[in-house]
Amino acid sequence: MARSSLVRLCVATLVYALTLLDAAAAEHKRVMILHSFGREFRPWNEYVRAIRAELDRQSPWVLDVQEHSLIAARTTDSNPDLPFVEYLHALYADKPPELIICIGAPAAVFIQRHRQKLFPAAPMLFTAVEQRRIQFANLTENDTVVAVRHDFRYLFESFLAIAPETRVIAMVNGNSPNELVWQNEMRRELKPLESRVDIRWYDKLSFEEMLKQIAALPAHSAIFWFQMIIDGAGVGHEGDRALTRLYAVANAPIFTTDQAFFGREIIGGPMHSPAEGGRRTASVAMRILGGEKPGDIKTPPSDFQPPKYDWRELKRWNVSERILPAGSEVDFREPSTWETYRWQIMLICSVVLAQALLITLLVHERGRRLLAEVQSRQRMSELAHVNRFTTANELTASIAHEINQPLGAIRTNAETMELMVKSAAPDIAEIREIVADIRRDEERASEVILRLRSLLKKTPFELREVDLNAIVGETLEFLAALTVGRQVGVDRALEPAPLVVRGDRIQLQQVILNLVVNAIDAMAGMPTAERHIVVRTDRSGNFAEVSIADSGPGIAPDKLSDVFQPFFTTKEHGMGIGLSIARTIVEAHAGQLLAENDAKGGARFRIRLPLA
Ligand code: ADP
Repeated sequence: MARSSLVRLCVATLVYALTLLDAAAAEHKRVMILHSFGREFRPWNEYVRAIRAELDRQSPWVLDVQEHSLIAARTTDSNPDLPFVEYLHALYADKPPELIICIGAPAAVFIQRHRQKLFPAAPMLFTAVEQRRIQFANLTENDTVVAVRHDFRYLFESFLAIAPETRVIAMVNGNSPNELVWQNEMRRELKPLESRVDIRWYDKLSFEEMLKQIAALPAHSAIFWFQMIIDGAGVGHEGDRALTRLYAVANAPIFTTDQAFFGREIIGGPMHSPAEGGRRTASVAMRILGGEKPGDIKTPPSDFQPPKYDWRELKRWNVSERILPAGSEVDFREPSTWETYRWQIMLICSVVLAQALLITLLVHERGRRLLAEVQSRQRMSELAHVNRFTTANELTASIAHEINQPLGAIRTNAETMELMVKSAAPDIAEIREIVADIRRDEERASEVILRLRSLLKKTPFELREVDLNAIVGETLEFLAALTVGRQVGVDRALEPAPLVVRGDRIQLQQVILNLVVNAIDAMAGMPTAERHIVVRTDRSGNFAEVSIADSGPGIAPDKLSDVFQPFFTTKEHGMGIGLSIARTIVEAHAGQLLAENDAKGGARFRIRLPLA
């Protein structure tokens, strides 16, 4: 019992599987596509490509598409069709296709001629064909048409609208039966334009000769590319090579009827669209495969699509986009430098901008620094001036002493002279000597005053070539009274040759003055016999050096750098600005001021200045 039910189940499953297979077979549709000239002939190849893509997209069934080519359309033989009819007949005798799609006029003409013999009952769809090439009277109830309509007059007028100066139009069209049919049509339709433009035909020429003539077209010419299947010499031209060659020699813009040619050589205009043709054809095909009677499907022919132009050709032929008809599409626009290199340009610009900003900031900063330098120098001068006053104050006693000496001598000499004048016989020679003494003493006194005045003079910082030896000498002269008064011995060891540096005389004097006064101060608590200052000048490489060494207690080693800090002082009434000003002055001369302790005791200050 169980066994027989198992057998029943198996049989049922098998029957169901067979039904499914059958259904799948039923969903399989056979379509034949018949080309007019060959599978790679523009514009038809573009139409077939679009139709197949649309069939795939729209079909709910699996389609088995077979393609054949009516090569006979390219020959002019008397009856070339027969072998091909035999071939197709043999191929489809048992199972005729469920739909035949004829591409182009020759295929349509061929099928209409041999329909009865070939596939009397198979549904037929004529497409990628101009409506004039269909013999509507011969259509059966199994036939339908998806055609286009060439409006040559409108096409040429549209071209003349964007190139109104055109005087000559070269017509590129071959010499095959199909092409000759079209030549007649064009001649008829374009007749009204003949008064405006010279329309030239080359159908009797070989393509080579045609190219030669077209290459020599006069200015203000245009070329109308229709097709070049068979030339005047009977030579066939495969694919779109002919158009490429034409473009290579053309010295005028080329326009045409079909977008299948658009993409490099064609300037553009209103044209038929393979994509649109593909959509329309596939949707009619679907209706036929779905069971509708082809004869019942009426599709009006489609006109040119809205105009489309190639930007590169518009540029080449100087056609302004402004004169294109409203709603035109412009393709192949080359991106501008800005569009191509936007990021690079922006990057470069921002780098340049940042650089400019930086430079501006630096220039501004430099200006500020210069100003600050000038201001600081001015302050330094002022401070140095104040410091000189302080020093001068310290020197008052010894200066007074120095002036008093010649003044006293002058007074004594004057009194002596008074007595001599009162005598009966004054000794003129002696009087003359006394007068000379008086003059010398007066000069000495005024020299002291002059030196003091020049030290206290407020002068701007100014670099001149000066002899460091001379500056040292003058300063020591100036300090002579002080050193004598303080009982300090001063030894000089000056470099014999002048030491020329670029410097400010008064300021350098002040530095030396400061260092000597400090040295004198440092030795104040020492027995008078031990108070010694040695002032040396030397040349060392490119530098001139002045060293002022004393025999005082020296500087505490940890304070060697502190002494240059403003307001550092160990003196009861000190201000602590002398050395800081001195260092600032020396640095303003591009030099160095260094402090050290001598191994034998005492401090030594060294001024190093670059030689001029
Ligand atoms: P001030 O003389 O008003 O103190 P300075 O700046 O001229 O200011 O000197 C700062 C300090 O450096 C002095 O107070 C002193 O302690 C130290 N100094 C300067 N010269 C000497 C020197 N020759 N020997 C020892 N100490 C010195």
